[in-house]
Amino acid sequence: MKSLAALLRQSGEPLPYATTRPLEIVEVDLAPPGAGEVLIKIESAGICHSDLSVVNGTRPRPLPLVAGHESAGVVVEIGAGVKGLKVGDHVTSVFLPSCGKCAECTTGTPAFCSVGASSNARGEMISGGSRISFNGTPVSHYNGVSCYSQYAVLDERSLIKLPEDIPFDIAALFGCALLTGIGAVRNSAHAKAGQSLGVWGLGGVGLSALIGAVISQASPIFAIDPVASKRELALELGADFALDPNENLRDHLPAGVLVAIECAGRADTLKAAYEATSRGGTTVTVGLPPATEMLSISALSLVSDVKTIRGSYLGSANPRVDIPEFVDFWRAGKLPVEKLLTSVSPMAQVNEAMDALQSAQVVRQVIHPHSGVWALENS
Ligand SMILES: [Zn+2]
Ligand SMILES: [Zn+2]
Repeated sequence: MKSLAALLRQSGEPLPYATTRPLEIVEVDLAPPGAGEVLIKIESAGICHSDLSVVNGTRPRPLPLVAGHESAGVVVEIGAGVKGLKVGDHVTSVFLPSCGKCAECTTGTPAFCSVGASSNARGEMISGGSRISFNGTPVSHYNGVSCYSQYAVLDERSLIKLPEDIPFDIAALFGCALLTGIGAVRNSAHAKAGQSLGVWGLGGVGLSALIGAVISQASPIFAIDPVASKRELALELGADFALDPNENLRDHLPAGVLVAIECAGRADTLKAAYEATSRGGTTVTVGLPPATEMLSISALSLVSDVKTIRGSYLGSANPRVDIPEFVDFWRAGKLPVEKLLTSVSPMAQVNEAMDALQSAQVVRQVIHPHSGVWALENS
């Protein structure tokens, strides 16, 4: 079938993307869903920093590709052997499919699935190959999702079924921002009530980590970001202190924080988070810095201050356990995801949305692949 999609043919184009338009809205061809796969009508897709990193070339991926890895939609067709989903089901996507069979999956760490990580790196579906083509040429999938598209073929293992009362713009954020941010706090840091906690970098993932800190009843909670509006939002969401990176956290809490969550994806921010971590504390890093960045810290302090540095990918989550829990949190009013939504735009404005993310002035933007596409392209 045909689908309008945001195709990236060349990364590293100059800014502003509103002018160079690296993401082209084109009509791609989608193959029918294969065994274990489903066709989804994408209703809402998030603009995440990892997508920007692919567009700007700091995270190279096989091109051309259809971008987007955070979405919610409705199942419109199922392939052979699909057991857990049926037509009409509402779903959210997860950006790492878990094969269920590898050593990582069978030992309770599906966020580290080596089979899914390998297919993601190749730009293929987890069962191999691509279901997308443009003018007869195969197009890569992005993290098995490729949701900047009206329709997308996803493996059943990349999807979590959701109740129908969750709005799509909220559900879209479950599979990346929330899974990564809340997971970093709960699964990677194991933050407990009464523990001091800091979050560095207040984008969609960072503010999700903050929400996770509030759910975990960490206290006091620090939120650190150079953008004043994001600091204000952090206070609104439950942070006790919101600091500019130039301020010293230890002026407020001399011992430092027991749990430090780095979400900016920068080595210098990770260093600041590590240095603000207290004796016996844990620094968790979630952001994805460019592959060339190196971290320089006091080698002695790691031992003498008994600190832990820990990487967290996909929030060290088990999406099939964590996402249903998000539904319960959302129903209980503990997941103010709507406050993370800066804007809702038609897919035709995806390049403008990338510019806004690059400017660091926005938290989470979502795009709608079915609204106003042609009207805007032709205007
Ligand atoms: Zn993401
Ligand atoms: Zn696996």
